[in-house]
Amino acid sequence: MQLAQIEPSRMISAEPLPMGDEENQSLSDNILNMMEQGILVWSVDGRCDYFNNRIFEVLELTGDDVALGMDRDTFRDRAIARGEMRPEDRERSEALIRAHQPYSFDRTLPSGRVVLTNARPARGGSYVVSFTDVTEERRAASDLAAAKRDAEMAEQRARDVLVTERKRQYESRLLSQLDEWLQSCKSLPELYKIVTTFMTKLLPGSKGELYIYSNSRDVLDGTCHWGTRDLHDTIAPDSCWALRRGRSYEYDAGGLCFLCDHVETHHHGVPITEYICVPIVAHGDTVGLLHIRFDGEGEDAARVGDGSQFAVRCGEHISMAIANVKLRDELHDQSIRDPLTGLYNRRYFLEALRREMAISDRRNGRFGLISLDADRFKTFNDNHGHDAGDIVLRMIGAKMQEIMFAGEVCCRFGGEEFVILVPAADLEETVALANRLREEIASQQVRFLDRMLPRVTISAGCSVYPGSGATSEDILREADQALYRAKEAGRNCVEAASALCSRPELRLAPDP
Ligand code: GH3
Ligand code: MG
Ligand code: MG
Repeated sequence: MQLAQIEPSRMISAEPLPMGDEENQSLSDNILNMMEQGILVWSVDGRCDYFNNRIFEVLELTGDDVALGMDRDTFRDRAIARGEMRPEDRERSEALIRAHQPYSFDRTLPSGRVVLTNARPARGGSYVVSFTDVTEERRAASDLAAAKRDAEMAEQRARDVLVTERKRQYESRLLSQLDEWLQSCKSLPELYKIVTTFMTKLLPGSKGELYIYSNSRDVLDGTCHWGTRDLHDTIAPDSCWALRRGRSYEYDAGGLCFLCDHVETHHHGVPITEYICVPIVAHGDTVGLLHIRFDGEGEDAARVGDGSQFAVRCGEHISMAIANVKLRDELHDQSIRDPLTGLYNRRYFLEALRREMAISDRRNGRFGLISLDADRFKTFNDNHGHDAGDIVLRMIGAKMQEIMFAGEVCCRFGGEEFVILVPAADLEETVALANRLREEIASQQVRFLDRMLPRVTISAGCSVYPGSGATSEDILREADQALYRAKEAGRNCVEAASALCSRPELRLAPDP
């Protein structure tokens, strides 16, 4: 039964009931005791005027806990001591009592039951308070709220997973596009150009630099950059924590981190707060370093944290591509170079010769050919050993490369025989060059172990295209024959081809 259904003015008056009205009073008592709620009436001065029997059960009270005439403060002190009423509920309700306003709050009894305290002001300033057990309602409400929270969290998790998955798919798509481009790279410079373009797309807002170990491996050369114009020409390997520790290094100014020496503390006035260095490892060998930083400002600025995993993946893909291009370059180099002298080999030379002939034909040009051979080298080997001979052959190769220009093709044709292709040269220029080389080599002394080896000389024969012949065989043969004459003439000298091509249209002025 609800309190609202009983006429409060008659049933629970703050005024004493009229004398001689005992019958009415006992009826009201009976009705009030039959209610599910506990009922208590506070007089205008805050004393207990009335309570029904249910109050003991609802509020889990014993006989001493409530009594007629007890003041409200004592009643409330006990409730607070039992932990069922919060001090803030007390303060709030007291303020409302002063304003003669209704108040209500939940109290949680030591047993865990929840009781709604609902107080309404009655006529004359007294308060009628009802205590209703709302344990089930509150539990249901809190279960509902928890279920709603769980559902929201699950939905959020699903959304996060979806966002992460979409991001991963997008990144994978970009990475496979990058791979496709990287795989079709023919050279490292081409690869660096692709890295520069792709990194701005792969890690928007990032700035980066790529360093590759120099051949001497004592420094790393700056090869390309994106999002920034700053790139060191070289950096020392021990200036980077990632290279020293052999794994990616994430710097966060807020954490316990040390700045790499190759990174400046400020970049155009903006302090460096976060960056990542990823070693570029190819076939187990560290070949370089990828440095990525996010020093942009504002909300859109990308963060290392967002992209570090992805940056590492990019580093891995770039590493693989660099490794492949390097391997391809090395294999190609091995297939065209002589391992002892580093000069081109016979196979490459014959190709270069055919190429040069085609260019000369197209442009109506010419080129010279020098065939040279170490003098009495068999005797040299016999006297000083094969290893000493090898060192001399290396010296001859180095001198050839030192004297020649970039376009000239120096080759070890086999054994102690070499050839040089001299673009755009006539016979005179070719002979002059051969003589210069001959003199240089004759003046060289080479150390072998703890002693100096005797000087070695060369003899050379020169021919020209198209003057000496129309085919590669012709001009090689002509140069060889001139070389043979130089040997005949006593060695350490240069001879020019004498025969001219039978094709009149290719004939140059006869050699003197
Ligand atoms: P000539 O002045 O007539 O050219 O006399 P030569 O002794 O140089 O000529 P020959 O063709 O009789 O001997 C060539 C020698 O070159 C024989 C070989 O021992 C040496 N030789 C060839 N290839 C190598 C090499 O890779 N290393 C060394 N150390 N010697 C080589
Ligand atoms: Mg020889
Ligand atoms: Mg020879």
